[in-house]
Amino acid sequence: MASTDTETDARAADEETMDRLRDAVREQLTALGEDPDREGLLKTPDRVAKSLRALTAGYRKDVEAVINDALFTVDYSEMVIVKDIDFYSLCEHHILPFFGRCHIAYIPQGKVIGLSKLPRIVEMFSRRLQVQERLTSQIAEIIDSTISPLGVAVVAEGTHLCMAMRGVEKQNSRAITSAMHGLFRSDARTRMEFLNLLRLGGDGAMSSAVLRRHDEGDGD
Ligand SMILES: [Zn+2]
Repeated sequence: MASTDTETDARAADEETMDRLRDAVREQLTALGEDPDREGLLKTPDRVAKSLRALTAGYRKDVEAVINDALFTVDYSEMVIVKDIDFYSLCEHHILPFFGRCHIAYIPQGKVIGLSKLPRIVEMFSRRLQVQERLTSQIAEIIDSTISPLGVAVVAEGTHLCMAMRGVEKQNSRAITSAMHGLFRSDARTRMEFLNLLRLGGDGAMSSAVLRRHDEGDGD
């Protein structure tokens, strides 16, 4: 199949990006006092570059393409909940992983999104440099703007390696963030119904987890 000029340009840009990433990783290894030419590290710059590109692939995803063909008109106005969507992201302060589960609920107003698209939305926003608060609100906002539901709620529970790897007392702490729009914000009963449904069938994670903001850490 013949490729277009645009595709060729895109590939060249990709290759240039990969070269810069490989050079940067090599430089990091040297700055850390390592020998990037020793056997175990020879392919490390290439592996890290590829891994970083994959873990930030969300920047290169288009919302419309992700949700495309998955919007349906329905006569249903009860709460739709998708629980336990795994996410893996990188904290933008330390470029270390934070990961966990995300729960999404919305109350349709004539339109729904195909259920399988919700994890893809989560992935699109988590595969970037992120803070958990922004990840949570971006997911809520995109659902809000795409199908204008009566309400949308997103709760995320995340373990942050930048917290867990520093200081024993933080090893089991998780950050919980939420974004509530529409009825979930204005109506306490709707909000409580959602939060109760999250607790049901769960492992008690919501009640036992330590609530704290990720950026209230050690300040470094
Ligand atoms: Zn961090």
